[in-house]
Amino acid sequence: MDGTLKVDATAAVVDQQTLIQGVAKYFLEKVHGPDGMPWGTKFADLEELSVQIGQAMSRSMIDQALVRQAQSVPSEAETCSGCGGRVEPLENTEPRAVLTRVGAAHWPEPKRYCPKCRAAFFPSDPIAGD
Ligand SMILES: [Zn+2]
Repeated sequence: MDGTLKVDATAAVVDQQTLIQGVAKYFLEKVHGPDGMPWGTKFADLEELSVQIGQAMSRSMIDQALVRQAQSVPSEAETCSGCGGRVEPLENTEPRAVLTRVGAAHWPEPKRYCPKCRAAFFPSDPIAGD
């Protein structure tokens, strides 16, 4: 998408350090209870838990961002990439999935239809990274 603001991921992590620490603390308390990780827990088990929760969190972020984007298509994107004409929204959504570094992300995608080209398509297909 041209002209969109690119988020600096590294800076976002620094900016959200307090939130990240709070969420991590919440997960630890949910899993281990108020007394924390039991004495004698293997480091590998802590690592596995942390990685799996981190990946699940990442998948959820991707899912939520894609759902929201699919539901809020800007009017300038409501045109056919083939002929440039106005497109019509279709009633139903279609399940979409994309394989990410943290597993498969899923979201329902509303389709558009171009009456001129007689073609249906998704207006918010994510652009592949550079
Ligand atoms: Zn068209």
